[in-house]
Amino acid sequence: MDNEKIYVNLPGESTPYQLKNLLHKHQSALEKAHGKQPKLRAHCDCRKFGNKAELVIRLRDQRYHVARMPNSGHMHHQDCTAFSEDPSLSGGGEYLPAISIKDDVTIIKVNFSLSKAENVEPIENNSPPNPLTGSVSRHAMGLNALLCHMWNESGLNIWIDGSIRLRSLVYSKLSEVIEGTKLGRRSLAKLIHVEPSWEKTSWLPVAPKSGATSNDYFLALFKIKSVTTHDKYSYIKSDSGEIFRVSPEVLESIQTSFKSAWSYVTRPRGSDQVPDQDKDEKPKLAQVFCLALCGWVEGADGMRIEIGKAALILTNWRYIPVDSSYELIVADKLLVEKRSFVKPLRYDAADDVVFPDFKLLDAGPNPVPMEIYGVKNNPKYDERKRAKVAHYKQSGEPFWDWTPPEPMRPFNEKK
Ligand SMILES: [Zn+2]
Repeated sequence: MDNEKIYVNLPGESTPYQLKNLLHKHQSALEKAHGKQPKLRAHCDCRKFGNKAELVIRLRDQRYHVARMPNSGHMHHQDCTAFSEDPSLSGGGEYLPAISIKDDVTIIKVNFSLSKAENVEPIENNSPPNPLTGSVSRHAMGLNALLCHMWNESGLNIWIDGSIRLRSLVYSKLSEVIEGTKLGRRSLAKLIHVEPSWEKTSWLPVAPKSGATSNDYFLALFKIKSVTTHDKYSYIKSDSGEIFRVSPEVLESIQTSFKSAWSYVTRPRGSDQVPDQDKDEKPKLAQVFCLALCGWVEGADGMRIEIGKAALILTNWRYIPVDSSYELIVADKLLVEKRSFVKPLRYDAADDVVFPDFKLLDAGPNPVPMEIYGVKNNPKYDERKRAKVAHYKQSGEPFWDWTPPEPMRPFNEKK
């Protein structure tokens, strides 16, 4: 299903509107529907049976547009552009206590300070791990969880065959999530600066004057282009050419926490699954995105941005997140073979908490789990996965698995 086939019922109107048209035309109809909120809500027509998912009309840049209600992505048909995975089926499930919903806004509790003047008390995770799954309840998000949340809620971990996913669409999907989110009492849109898809636009806040002190931190989300080191500092360059200074201690913690993603920063490469490319086309390489908590520091050459904390996410060339080079191979092969699939995100779940590495969405009535072994080198984890596969085998449920470097068996057939 693509935008052509998705319809939206606006309150008080008897004929549904095609979503694609609503995005461009019918501003007056949207304005009217906007005025009826929150009493009456628009609904998505993607599901033919059962409860239809509610939608919210928001005003951005003086235009009305339709967005998904918080925490309702899984109520849409999996082929609908508003679909996102139920977070409880991934590492996001551990963070349900950190999220609350008020009207049409998602409120997230975070465990980092947004200002030098603010002291955030560390919040203890107060439940012991579930003995069966190993997962815990987490009451506040760090940067990594926030980045995973944004990717999951934007539906960027889902690929439906036939989709077109340009950087501009990624930007607008992330912006939609940001607009509907608050970190505590503060609107995320005011705290975060997202690198736009078009080049040569200044997207970061204006530097304070030399000598002025700024107590506030800000968040920046960007694609990493390269990193260089001189004297003792490292300098991360974003795709659009902005430079972020990083101290050796912070760099070390990024490298340790995001080993796999970092290896692609220092050695940009793709998987060998993308077929021969047109010479004129950009190579289809993996990409690394960074969510950084930044502040201003004054140096000999003026004010510059320094990263205090950061989280990275590794994706393939279509922005599908992956945890390892093996997953990159599988994600690219799934694209080449025109499959529809989802990548459950780990968030901060411990290495031994088991989720499928991917799920095929087009191989039967239920998602088919896909497991890749030998990546994490964690016997407890492998043991849990093998127990799960034994369960699939016993119950006759379809699944797919791969133990690199053995040859990969074909994916389960499309149904
Ligand atoms: Zn829908």
